[in-house]
Amino acid sequence: MQAPLKIKVVTFDLDNTLWDVEPALLRAEDAQRQWLLNNRPGTMENYEHDALWEFKKSVWRRHPHLTHQISKLRIQLLFELQLAAGYAEDQARQGAEAAFTVFLEQRHAVVLYEEALGVLECLAADYTLGALTNGNADIYKTDAAEYFDFAFLAEEIGVSKPAPDMFHAALERAGVLPGEIVHVGDNPEHDIAGARAVGMRTIWMNARAASWPGGERADREICNLAQLPQAISSITDQ
Ligand SMILES: [Mg+2]
Repeated sequence: MQAPLKIKVVTFDLDNTLWDVEPALLRAEDAQRQWLLNNRPGTMENYEHDALWEFKKSVWRRHPHLTHQISKLRIQLLFELQLAAGYAEDQARQGAEAAFTVFLEQRHAVVLYEEALGVLECLAADYTLGALTNGNADIYKTDAAEYFDFAFLAEEIGVSKPAPDMFHAALERAGVLPGEIVHVGDNPEHDIAGARAVGMRTIWMNARAASWPGGERADREICNLAQLPQAISSITDQ
């Protein structure tokens, strides 16, 4: 059997791969809500959780072209919520941008897994590192920024993982063969199936000890980033 190609590049999903995203998302939603309560009274007060969810779904349905543009979609939602509350269009437009800004500030304030920085520093000495996210997190706003050579967001590329576009962008940027990249991510479909479909090697980051949902498994599985360097070298050494 032909030996596997040597891994030269490691690409990472971000949310729930390098950090737990839930605390940052909750803080971000809170900050956005607080901004609206303070600056656009009447916008949020009348919505129970379910009613807000229905409103969100109606925005998604009416703007299918924003499916992969999650920031624009959120701004549209904020805009329409204020219009529905009776604010004028320019006020609603301005309020949507301002509320989104406070949301994003907290969304970017993620706390990396404890072992992440040490592992990334060690990997960056041997591999090119890249980030591929469907979310609106920015690796360059975290303490891990210095270890990353490139980062692509679904909203820049125009389509989310598992579509091949973001993986192709990484291949082009890194200038390597698919078999020379290993992609690390927590989502079996977006990360593992998506990366495998373009010929990359894959590592499932399963920090929550989930069971594999079925289908072809990743090349390796880890439950803590500390296991990653060994998992990557074992792919090449097999
Ligand atoms: Mg993820």
